Amino acid sequence: MLKIEHLGIAVKELTASIPLFEQLLNTPCYKTETVESEGVNTAFFMTGDAKIELLEATKPESPISKFIEKKGAGIHHIAFEVENIEAEMKRLSALGFELLNEVPKNGADNKLVCFLHPKTTNGVLIELCQEKK
Ligand code: ZN
Repeated sequence: MLKIEHLGIAVKELTASIPLFEQLLNTPCYKTETVESEGVNTAFFMTGDAKIELLEATKPESPISKFIEKKGAGIHHIAFEVENIEAEMKRLSALGFELLNEVPKNGADNKLVCFLHPKTTNGVLIELCQEKK
């Protein structure tokens, strides 16, 4: 893993949370993006070397809706940047980590992503991400 690429935070409404995080971080939101396949609207902030990603559900079946129902708004996942996502998925799978997708999928912010099931990572949802070239 190269570094923490971003922290994902589940929020109820981006319209309220974007200005809140702009004030908190003292930096503007530089991008919003919808990932229809995941049922999320996202908003990104730069904080030094790592980003903050806010996630809002676009529909009731969205994993973000379910997360907020169960746990409320808050930290949702940690994303690590990797050089070669397929190699990293193979490595982790061989070690017994459960991958939530068998092939890398398209994520927000020009990334290929794979999630690891929290039950194999001490309750933390982990995202691997690789910049698309
Ligand atoms: Zn993410």
